[in-house]
Amino acid sequence: MAKKLPATQVVIVGLGWAGSILAHELAEEGLNVIAFERGPWRDTAVDFNIASAPDELRYSRRQELMLRNAQNTCTVRNTPSETALPMRTWGSFHPGNGTGGAGNHWAGITFRFQPHEFRLHSYLTERYGKELSKELTLQDWGTDWSEMEPHYAAFEKLAGISGKAGNLNGTLVEGGNPFEGPRSIEYPNPPTAQTYAPMLFAEAATNMGYKPFPVPSALLSQAYTNPLGVKMGPCTFCGFCTNYGCANYSKASPIISVIPALVRKRNFTAKTDCEVLRVVLDSTGKKATGIIFADSSGDEWEQPADLVIVTAFTFENVRLMLLSGIGKPYDPATNTGTTGRNYAYQTANSVRMFFDDKNFNPFIGGGAIGMGIDELNNDNFDHSGLGFVGGGSTRVTPIGAPPIDSRPVPPGTPAWGSKWKAATVKNYLSFMSIGCEASSYSMRTNYLSLDPTYRDPRGRPLLRITFDFPENDRRMSAYVTGKVMDIARTMGAREFYPSSQTGHWNTKPYQSSHVVGGFVMGADPSTSSVNKHLQVWDVPNLFVVGASAFPQNPGYNPTGTVGALAFKAAHAIRNYYLKRPGEMISV
Ligand SMILES: Cc1cc2nc3c(=O)[nH]c(=O)nc-3n(C[C@H](O)[C@H](O)[C@H](O)COP(=O)(O)OP(=O)(O)OC[C@H]3O[C@@H](n4cnc5c(N)ncnc54)[C@H](O)[C@@H]3O)c2cc1C
Ligand code: SF4
Repeated sequence: MAKKLPATQVVIVGLGWAGSILAHELAEEGLNVIAFERGPWRDTAVDFNIASAPDELRYSRRQELMLRNAQNTCTVRNTPSETALPMRTWGSFHPGNGTGGAGNHWAGITFRFQPHEFRLHSYLTERYGKELSKELTLQDWGTDWSEMEPHYAAFEKLAGISGKAGNLNGTLVEGGNPFEGPRSIEYPNPPTAQTYAPMLFAEAATNMGYKPFPVPSALLSQAYTNPLGVKMGPCTFCGFCTNYGCANYSKASPIISVIPALVRKRNFTAKTDCEVLRVVLDSTGKKATGIIFADSSGDEWEQPADLVIVTAFTFENVRLMLLSGIGKPYDPATNTGTTGRNYAYQTANSVRMFFDDKNFNPFIGGGAIGMGIDELNNDNFDHSGLGFVGGGSTRVTPIGAPPIDSRPVPPGTPAWGSKWKAATVKNYLSFMSIGCEASSYSMRTNYLSLDPTYRDPRGRPLLRITFDFPENDRRMSAYVTGKVMDIARTMGAREFYPSSQTGHWNTKPYQSSHVVGGFVMGADPSTSSVNKHLQVWDVPNLFVVGASAFPQNPGYNPTGTVGALAFKAAHAIRNYYLKRPGEMISV
């Protein structure tokens, strides 16, 4: 029996980007906020000291910043007819743990989604009508660009994003991304400098008529003080960025950009090493009364609260809802139910290129330094007659080439011995790749549910992922990779090797941590779990915020939109919910 603690006004579950933004906004409002984080407290000066931060064995190979699989994992299968098995090491994606969440070890590429994304089903139906594949379960988000734009701007200012606007208030701006939606502000910081490989790509793309732009980056190009008064320094291109914390206060993250201001507030408390086990509902099932959590000794406690906000990342957002009996579990056989619905991923494509006469100095880099093009993304090209919808963001972003992982050798090279060593020496400096991070559209048989067999150490069912790439996405992947090959061919490489999505989803190679859906937003409670304010239908004092709300995934990275949704939910709570607490917001 959990022991009951004194009540608070707000409980937040998880202290990543979404949780820390909401905690700060609601503490600003004067509310008493307690945030629960299952992992340890992390602090830049202590945990990411410059003397220890660039440790490839510790952070990349041994995955120190990631959730331990023994604490919690998920089971996986490709289709509903298969038996799912547990993931015993992280491969395909890298879930975070501890204050900052995956925002510590992310790469920092920070796109906004395009305006049509928020009404994707309506938009594509209007444009392609009967051509749209019946396999897809695309949905509108129940919101629109005018409602999202101010919150994107708020997140960019908070994180100090470095970039170049392509569309300022409807006027196209040379040098930026011409496909982005109209922005109310220029990026808070100018683009970062570029290394050689992105410049070579941009030159080739320009010669072919594309319009390259600097990838919008949470790696700061210059010293910056954000609206919370937190100071950040310029990126040094140290090359230990993705999968690492930044020692230099240069990569925006919750622990660099938000939590230093948050911990100064007397009405904020963080409880780390405390795992939330479920949300508690009253006897009507329509009001959350708090949460149950386990502390580091394993003891269980009940924390009563007026308002519960779950920001525990896609997987745990959905699992907590299923474990708490919130929403009807999704059933792919009948296409009914909402909790677990429309789970989607990202489709990873690339072309690897080996040159004879180039030196890219690949150890100089960072997670989000690079140049991209958007002509092959989403609906930025005419899909009539192509047999698919969607596309990908194409870019060269050299993240650094650390000594263990970075051994670029052409296919056919022996995996060890003197020939492998000679090939490493020959190719290390003169290798680059073009990536194309592409859309992943939802389909009926891709969903999240509780596993009937496998349990965590506390005896609770693991989350089960049922996922494979829709035929639509495989066709899209082949098409866009072919177009990327056309660019690669003009760049003068000795050898190049395309990689598109041909087989089934496989959990072993890292693809991206851009897992979305399962507790999606929308205007219709029969097909969505939360309204456009991220408020749970029928449980008005519960908000669930994160990429779990995306009904499908465009060809962009998610965190700009996760941050915008966190600001959007906070805005709704501050301006509407608190005026009529306990009611669904109707504006
Ligand atoms: C290697 C890598 C590279 C990435 N690169 C990019 C990129 O370039 N661009 C981009 O847009 N995105 C990128 N991402 C994705 C990005 O990191 C996430 O979108 C973002 O961190 C999500 O923020 P969040 O607050 O929703 O979740 P998280 O950051 O995961 O935070 C959730 C927090 O909740 C805690 N938690 C979970 N369950 C519980 C529980 N039951 N009780 C208490 N606490 C709990 C977790 O420990 C975690 O700290 C990358 C991710 C990874 C791993
Ligand atoms: S590349 Fe830049 S932002 Fe990334 S860890 Fe190094 S200094 Fe920090």
